[in-house]
Parts: sequence; structure tokens; C-alpha cells
Amino acid sequence: METDVKDTVAINWDELTFSITPTRSMYIAECLEGGTWESKGLVPYGDITLSPAACVINYGQGLFEGMKAYRTAKDNVVLFRPDENARRTNSGCRRLCMPEVPEDLFLDAIRMIVRDNIDYVPPADKGALYLRPLVFGSGPVLGVKPAPSYTFLIYVSPVGPYFKEGLAGINLLITEDFHRAAQYGTGGVKAIGNYAGGMYPGSLAKAEGYSEIVYTDAREQRYLEEVGAANFFLIKGDVLATPELDGSILPGITRKSICEMAATEFGYTIEERQVAIEEIFEADEAFCSGTAAVITPILSMTHRDRKMEFCGGEVGEKTMALYNGLNGIIREEREDPYSWIEVL
Ligand SMILES: *Cc1c(COP(=O)(O)O)cnc(C)c1O
Repeated sequence: METDVKDTVAINWDELTFSITPTRSMYIAECLEGGTWESKGLVPYGDITLSPAACVINYGQGLFEGMKAYRTAKDNVVLFRPDENARRTNSGCRRLCMPEVPEDLFLDAIRMIVRDNIDYVPPADKGALYLRPLVFGSGPVLGVKPAPSYTFLIYVSPVGPYFKEGLAGINLLITEDFHRAAQYGTGGVKAIGNYAGGMYPGSLAKAEGYSEIVYTDAREQRYLEEVGAANFFLIKGDVLATPELDGSILPGITRKSICEMAATEFGYTIEERQVAIEEIFEADEAFCSGTAAVITPILSMTHRDRKMEFCGGEVGEKTMALYNGLNGIIREEREDPYSWIEVL
């Protein structure tokens, strides 16, 4: 009988960036025409074959998720609110006419792939194992209509900070020349088609020395929406304001968790509402949030010929307190009063 000896993982944990590192395995399930999801289990990580007429590469019928497995101070490997990713996947499946993935199948697959690639989870504070679930129309179509069959695939990669600046903070450019999403469009789900359009505006901002672009609302261009692919927050006094989920903003799980934690433990009044561009010039601090970005401090925001520097261009203390509060839970450095952590 073969023994289950795993290769030794040779990764320099100190040089991780947010980029792909191949791992041992990936997970696949399929839903054939008129059928239900069938798990194919784990297969070696590698290329997949696809019909040239696959709906996903012709019409973008697909979505992705992003989550992380963390190694903690107690040397456990934990997941953060994975049930929320399962639910959000299915809200996206409904919007994109794809069959919903049963929550149990989703969660079992997540646990299975992390366990099989557990030696790829970086040491605590060196990074995390990023999980990338995908659901897409893999069956062939020619007319614009839903695919006859679907694939649910998860691959994983060890990653470092999403912004290379990390906790040192980022400088942002507010744009009125491009929009990410419009109300009643697909901005509220992680539809793959939402992201290619952001690459060009993002590259323009980066060419000018900014870390990322900030989008405004598509109707009036008066309100702030998102920082590239991360949610946006402003702090003024004891108010924590973040753009309301009006359909064009992605309902971030980090966003939701910050709102809950900031109200419960930090005494903030949470305001989920339209946040006008003008408000940044009066604010104390700003930051963005996401699974990839965690909480990333914003040092400055530039709008037309005006630049707002928060805290004199330094990382804000209130932002760092929220970061430590959230990261402390994720890394098991403090109690998890919300039961957000699942130990594998
Ligand atoms: C994924 C994503 C976020 C952050 O969501 P989390 O659940 O916190 O990871 C924010 N904005 C956009 C556009 C996203 O795609």
C-alpha cells in the first residue's frame, strides 16, 4: 500500500506576495444538464479543459469567491465565517442563472481542500492560504442563454499582503471617468464580468503613483462606492460610515464583520448610507476592507486637484485599533465573542 507521505513544501514564507503559487490539489464538482451537483473530489492542481463554446468564456457566466485559511497564534488552522461565502455564492448563482451550490457541499469542499493543502498555509503573521472558489457555466452555448452544465472548482494559493504597502497604508485616486458598477447591475455579486473593466482605470491610477482607484456612484458621481475590489470606510469622531448596500456595492464579509465589531466593542455608531466625496475632507481616518486587503489604512485620497491627507499622512490609530481587533480574532490572539472562527 502506498503511504500518504506529502512532498515537503519549499516556499519562502518571507517573500509571499498576492500572487499564485501552485499547490497540491484542487476541488471539482459538476452539475450536468437538468441534474444536481456531483462532487468529483480532489484532483491534482493543474489545467482544465473547456469547450470553446463554454458560456463562461463567451458570455462571462461565472462568479468567484475569496476566502482565507489562517494559521493562528495557537497553531490551529482556521476559517473565517465560511458559511457567509457559501450564502453569497448562491445569491450570485441566482443573479447569473446558475444552479445554487448546496451549502453543505460548499463547506465540505472548503474543509477538504484546506486539509489536503494544510502544509501550504503560511506560518502565523507571514500570510494566509487564499481560497478561490469558482462557479461557472462550462457547457457549450452559441446564443446568449445560460449554459447547459456547470463547474464548481476551488483552488488555493499561499499569499502575502494584497497591497504591497500592507499596513503602511495606501494613497488613492478618486475617479469620475470610470464606473465599476451601476445600481441594479451585477456589482452586488462577485460576477467575474465585473472585474476586467476595472483593470484599465486601476492601471491609470497606478501609472500616476496611486495604489488603487476609488469609484463613485454611476448616477451622480457624488458618492464614494468602493476602493477597487475592497469596501470603503470613513471615521469621524465616534461615527464609522460606509457606503450602503444599494446593489452596486459588493456586500463584503469583512465589511459586515467590522460594522458588528465596531458597534459592539469599540462604541462606534455605524452609518450605512451614501458617503459623499466631500466628507473625506472632514474625516479623521479612512480605510478599506476585504478578505484580501483585511483592513488597509488609507493615507490620502485625491479628488481632481484636491488631496486629503488623513492624520498627516500617517496610519491612523483608530484604524489600527480596528485592525488589531479583527486580526486578533482571526489569529486567535483574543476571544472570538461572535463565533466567527471555525477551527479545522
Ligand atoms: C470581494 C470583494 C470585496 C470584499 O469582500 P469580502 O467578503 O470582505 O472579502 C469588496 N468589494 C469587491 C468589489 C469585492 O469583489
